[in-house]
Amino acid sequence: MSPAQSILAPGFKTTPWWWEAAEPPKRDSALPTHAGVAVVGGGYAGLSAALTLRRLGHEVAVLDAERIGWGASSRNGGMVSGGLKVASGALEKAHGAERAKAIALAAAASFPFIEETIAREGIGCDYVRCGRFVPAWTPKHYDALAARVDFIAEVTGLPTRMLPKDRQREALGSDHYHGGMVAEASGSLHPGKYARGLADAAERAGARLVDGVRVNGIRREDGGFRLVTDRGRMRADAVLVATNGYSRDGHGRSAMPWLARRMIPVGSYIIATEELPHYAIDKLFPGRRMISDTRRVLNYFRPSPTGNRVLWGGRASFSPTEPDRAAPALHRMMLAVFPELKDVQVTHAWTGNVAFTFDFLPHIGVQDGIHYAAGCQGSGVAMATWLGHRAALKIAGADNEGFALDGLNFPTAPFYNGNPNWFLPFIGGWYRLRDHIDRAAA
Ligand SMILES: Cc1cc2nc3c(=O)[nH]c(=O)nc-3n(C[C@H](O)[C@H](O)[C@H](O)COP(=O)(O)OP(=O)(O)OC[C@H]3O[C@@H](n4cnc5c(N)ncnc54)[C@H](O)[C@@H]3O)c2cc1C
Repeated sequence: MSPAQSILAPGFKTTPWWWEAAEPPKRDSALPTHAGVAVVGGGYAGLSAALTLRRLGHEVAVLDAERIGWGASSRNGGMVSGGLKVASGALEKAHGAERAKAIALAAAASFPFIEETIAREGIGCDYVRCGRFVPAWTPKHYDALAARVDFIAEVTGLPTRMLPKDRQREALGSDHYHGGMVAEASGSLHPGKYARGLADAAERAGARLVDGVRVNGIRREDGGFRLVTDRGRMRADAVLVATNGYSRDGHGRSAMPWLARRMIPVGSYIIATEELPHYAIDKLFPGRRMISDTRRVLNYFRPSPTGNRVLWGGRASFSPTEPDRAAPALHRMMLAVFPELKDVQVTHAWTGNVAFTFDFLPHIGVQDGIHYAAGCQGSGVAMATWLGHRAALKIAGADNEGFALDGLNFPTAPFYNGNPNWFLPFIGGWYRLRDHIDRAAA
């Protein structure tokens, strides 16, 4: 047996560990001929939009090419926070201080919104407000975090503090990093259960959820829209596209090519270890916080909600790769932080697409009459839920207070068609190299 094979436990699977408890179910529902609002994409964004639209009295159908919740929404790390992935300095430079602050506040509002949604709808998804530890890859990264800590506390309204290296073990059972930041505006959930619970809530409120229907085009027709799907045509008075990292399929098809040209889909990979004793997990994760480090090619990791596995995520590859081939790289990354796990095997490895944008911001808006909500930068459990809700308010004409992420200039790049696979390996390799250089110089 090769070393790579020996890390894979007997019965190893390439489906998300989350699907053991909450695999997105198959629905077999008929495609309606008409909907007040057609939502394309049945992830958190589409489902949250459907729920809000129903609460506001709109007839709504959610269409998904695969199964409802099949995309990133049942594959992610289940780490819940409302932060942006763009440095506050860069945001200020691009938008000015006042607008930058409004954008940061608009993003931070996603966190209380998801907490409120889970509580209001009674969604059983193992949600815990556990806080997050952001360990610094280098002393410089620690200083950069320290410079932002007050700002994060201000926009989230919850305690945020620095933990120096000599106290790091209060938050993480490892000496691999240079201290870090503890942010309380952060929680953990079971993403598969959350996707299922949100779908149930939307359905209870009267939304129609239709799976196995790919939308291949949306055209204006008679004051509304005609959706061309692989199961026939459908009419809608309004359309929301919420396809995020799946906005363009492997054959180049897209419900909304304009949006696909603004999404940079990137594969993210996660492994789940075999079961470990609870005391071992508590030693690795004191306080059971969510962890995501400060590298450009970041590692994110956490205990499972069951408290007996490590879930370890990262960009194992910047070229499309099968999860079983990514697993050894993720296992090596995990051992760098937790060497004591060297004999621990992996039971599941899986992948899903996150969506970056060229300005690193999430967006909602309208193009050619079609609404969109997308671009969560790999941090969309709370954000996609929030964007869907905000887009729904806009469609319903109920967005009274305005939203700083609505209608921003939404950049693309010349000749970019939505397929980044020809340049991602170079950029990813360059980022990885810079991480190594930073660390070597630290
Ligand atoms: C491995 C991984 C780890 C992650 N970890 C975290 C984390 O810990 N914390 C966090 O906050 N975020 C995380 N994310 C990001 C988060 O999961 C996403 O931002 C969020 O789920 C996006 O939700 P969505 O509804 O916008 O898109 P998705 O859930 O991806 O849904 C899009 C849906 O659109 C459908 N679709 C696409 N095209 C069509 C079409 N033409 N017709 C019909 N349907 C179509 C797809 O089938 C898909 O189901 C992670 C993502 C991945 C992949």
